[in-house]
Amino acid sequence: MTSQASAKLPTVHDLIAAIPSPTLVIDRAEKVVTLNDAAEVFLGKSVAGRHFTTAFRHPKLVEAVELGLLDRTPRKVSYQIVENGSDAFYDVHLRAIGDSGLLLLSFQNATGLAQAEQMRRDFVANVSHELRTPLTAVTGFIETLRNSARNDAEARSRFLSIMAGEADRMNRLVGELLTLSRVEADERVRPTVQLDLRDVLQATLRNLGTLAQERAVSLRYDPGQGPLPVIGDSDQLLQVFTNLVENAIKYGGADQSVEATARKIAHDPVLRGPAIEVTIADHGPGIDPIHLPRLTERFYRADSHRSRELGGTGLGLAIVKHILNRHRGRLRITSQPGQGSQFTVILPPDSGDI
Ligand code: ADP
Repeated sequence: MTSQASAKLPTVHDLIAAIPSPTLVIDRAEKVVTLNDAAEVFLGKSVAGRHFTTAFRHPKLVEAVELGLLDRTPRKVSYQIVENGSDAFYDVHLRAIGDSGLLLLSFQNATGLAQAEQMRRDFVANVSHELRTPLTAVTGFIETLRNSARNDAEARSRFLSIMAGEADRMNRLVGELLTLSRVEADERVRPTVQLDLRDVLQATLRNLGTLAQERAVSLRYDPGQGPLPVIGDSDQLLQVFTNLVENAIKYGGADQSVEATARKIAHDPVLRGPAIEVTIADHGPGIDPIHLPRLTERFYRADSHRSRELGGTGLGLAIVKHILNRHRGRLRITSQPGQGSQFTVILPPDSGDI
């Protein structure tokens, strides 16, 4: 006899015990015959041998079990429960086990998918809202120019300049949305170019010199000692520092200074190794600590009114976060209301082994 022929066939219980997702079997008498460990955790230990409604009472699922025991047709039911205080979504698959009269139920966690779907809906709602505000303003001014302000040269020029500002805002928003989508698409592709972060920082400060002058902000730069080698995408890193320095200039306020400081550190606890840290510090109003954990979410603003007034889109820090993820780096934000903010970019240094 071969060892295969001598092996004992597994029982239904052995089989479902080997399935990682919550699974249970119900018989014709509507009792739970057996359930695996995952299902015990999920539905409770005491349900084995009892009527299946001891395990769940969701009307759609109860109906599907009753029908499944009668007609043996495969079914799928969506099931929502509260797990650890938050909503969890499951797809429950119902299948008859041959002609045994038993019905197998397997629960697949679909919470991640449901959350992704919700995020997509929120994103579309946010984008629509962000575009609608300037569009409503432009439409209103067009109406006024056609009617009451038709022959008023002074009002016409004032309204046209407001309309140009609103059009700029829409343009910026669309530009940043495209950047965000490109950056997200690239996130899993590791950068390959060896570069010196000092060049990127210098280019950033050069590009923003005029903006700083216009706002009477003095830009200071301390590159630390020696080169700052990283493997990176220089355009994307330029974007990171541009967004941070621009925010520091915008929110830091006139007649203040903005400092960019770089240093090498021997051990970063999160990167678990050496790191390059670049801090962009301003001396503006700072940010209330309750906002800090959410600042890199798309469209999240600590001070909506001020952000909109300064032409912000609420996407700059989300772009920063995605670019740093791609570079295996991170962003640390510290701030005390009334004492300015510090945005620190932490990147792994180029170890030279690429
Ligand atoms: P925005 O286009 O609104 O500036 P960001 O994503 O760049 O969007 O920033 C998100 C929010 O974080 C801003 O709306 C602002 O409330 C806050 N913020 C960012 N940088 C600073 C800073 N240097 N000082 C104070 N608040 C800041």
